[in-house]
Amino acid sequence: MFSLIKLPRVFTINQVPKVFHEDGIVSGYRHPHSSATDCILSLFQLTNETLNIWTHFLPTWYFLWKTGTVVLMLIAWQDFFTWPLVIFLLSCCIYPLASSCAHTFSSMSERARHICFFFDYGALSFYSLGSAISYSAYVFPDEWVNSLFHQCYVPMAVLNTVVCTGLACYSRLGLPFLQYNHDIVNRLPVSPKLSKYLRVVAFAYPYLFDNIPLFYRVFLCVGEGCADNDTNILHCKHITLAFLTGFLFATHLPERLAPGSFDYIGHSHQLFHVCGILGTHFQMKAIEQDMMTRRPWLLQNSIPITFSNSVGAGLLCVVVNLTIILLFSLPLLSAPVFKERKHYSGLKKVSAKSCPCC
Ligand SMILES: [Zn+2]
Repeated sequence: MFSLIKLPRVFTINQVPKVFHEDGIVSGYRHPHSSATDCILSLFQLTNETLNIWTHFLPTWYFLWKTGTVVLMLIAWQDFFTWPLVIFLLSCCIYPLASSCAHTFSSMSERARHICFFFDYGALSFYSLGSAISYSAYVFPDEWVNSLFHQCYVPMAVLNTVVCTGLACYSRLGLPFLQYNHDIVNRLPVSPKLSKYLRVVAFAYPYLFDNIPLFYRVFLCVGEGCADNDTNILHCKHITLAFLTGFLFATHLPERLAPGSFDYIGHSHQLFHVCGILGTHFQMKAIEQDMMTRRPWLLQNSIPITFSNSVGAGLLCVVVNLTIILLFSLPLLSAPVFKERKHYSGLKKVSAKSCPCC
């Protein structure tokens, strides 16, 4: 059947605009003005994005299945104690789904690429809030439960999502209307290095903040009141994988050592996706186990789980983050389409001549 479908051609780094370039990736680029159909077809064709898409698309279904199971088996709508877990699980479904969509459709145009990744950043931000809501409910060490830090923890995590999404979106093009408008072709107001640095900070900061109670519980706390139990092993597995995920994202290893050797299989972004998902899996197991084993003690001693510190905080985060994404996307959405089309119209002809092999 696939022999009847003509798969789109792929390009080398010199044939696509700078905004599509990835460090250490030399070939396997899709056309920078692909149609939506070409983007979907590229799922079944080996390009440098194919495994980026599948490594997040398949886990989305795993987390959806897990969410469905929890909601149905624990009758979550009746049991307010499970609400934070459900919010966390929803965030675990949304971030890989947004990421796989972003990687699928990011080659439709330069503007589409920016907007796709704005959504990707918003979803990651929501995942960090999902983690914070569930940590506040189930993971805080006994001796920090009900402390001032515990009471401020979820509101601060909501605020952090604004910083995280805002900074990550800013890292692509700067401030909307002030530093960029619809005329973004050949313009990169933020240098690629600074852009990468800002993005690392944007995601490392909320992760580190969210994990303060967990780091204290696992690495620093001694004696009673540490909630020192079997779950700590699962938490440690999650922390190790999270640091490996951050390391891969920041260093671009292994492709930086051998540019062109990992274009299709084995480059850092694929490994980053896989480690991130494995980390999320262990994090989910740990949160679930803490929720089950600590339930009686937490119900008696911890801050009560309410609509505002669980579902309400999640909804607020979604509304605020969508507003930020809309603000950053507006100048791009108002662009006259023909301008970009014209810019790339010659690429197919030129590429066909210069790269008969692809
Ligand atoms: Zn990705």
